[in-house]
Amino acid sequence: MSDTNWVAIVTGSSRGIGRGIALALAARGWRIVINYHSNSSAAEQTRQDVIEAGGDGLLVQADIADIDSLNRLVDRTLSHFGRVDMLANNAGIAPRQRLDILDTNPESYDEVMAVNLRGPFFLTQRVANEMIRLVKEGEIERPKVVNIGSISAYTSSTSRAEYCVSKAGVGMMTALWADRLAEYGINVYEIRPGIIATDLTAVVKEKYDPLILEQGLTPIRRWGLPEDIGKAVAAIADDLLPFSTGEVINVDGGFHLHRL
Ligand code: NAP
Repeated sequence: MSDTNWVAIVTGSSRGIGRGIALALAARGWRIVINYHSNSSAAEQTRQDVIEAGGDGLLVQADIADIDSLNRLVDRTLSHFGRVDMLANNAGIAPRQRLDILDTNPESYDEVMAVNLRGPFFLTQRVANEMIRLVKEGEIERPKVVNIGSISAYTSSTSRAEYCVSKAGVGMMTALWADRLAEYGINVYEIRPGIIATDLTAVVKEKYDPLILEQGLTPIRRWGLPEDIGKAVAAIADDLLPFSTGEVINVDGGFHLHRL
């Protein structure tokens, strides 16, 4: 594509995987809507890094769990840039407390589902309608949606069941939007990260270090990095998978392999 004014909304790009995605796209000249929830200084750092990498960044505070808030995110994107070429549904949370499935409570379940599944579902709905309009108006070509799922979509962790259920839901969400949007040339992908070194996993670093580095929990014996996910999103942004939609891309060091 000759156009180089592409715009991506990357939810939760103040830190971690979202920041890795933002930087990979910025290195390709993309303009990034850097969404965050509460950490404005981390978001500002991402913006500076995005500019340094060769892109441009707009900071938008918005709570993905809140429908008015996510509509404001899209409104700000369109009023500032006038277009959206990619939505990366990345923002996500773990339960505040790891509680056994026999003890967890509706408040934790609702909170995790609202951020990890309900928010991305309705954000995709709103953005998809805007993308369809922009495609019909000839303003954009072949926009894309990327959902950040997890190995927890199929791996049982009984001390954070609500997280697993939310990520299994992201799997079906990917299939549904891929099916519905294909006729408009909008491909939908899911990236399933394995164990990635971010603030989210900092609490389990000591537990996972020996499992990964010594015992080979993942065939590739290292922690994943936000850049690993950024590279996969960059391949999608470069339109290198044009005949694939609804596809799950495992970026997990081989965790998903069944091994004997
Ligand atoms: P992280 O380091 O904790 O960063 C979370 C990001 O999401 C931050 O930018 C945070 O914003 C934002 N966020 C949290 N709640 C939000 C809300 N309600 N509205 C808007 N933004 C919100 O997490 P991460 O490890 O990068 O995870 C990113 C995604 O990858 C999540 O969907 C997670 O489930 C998935 N994932 C992670 C791993 C892993 O091993 N790390 C593995 C598989 C999947 P603030 O900075 O403002 O708080």
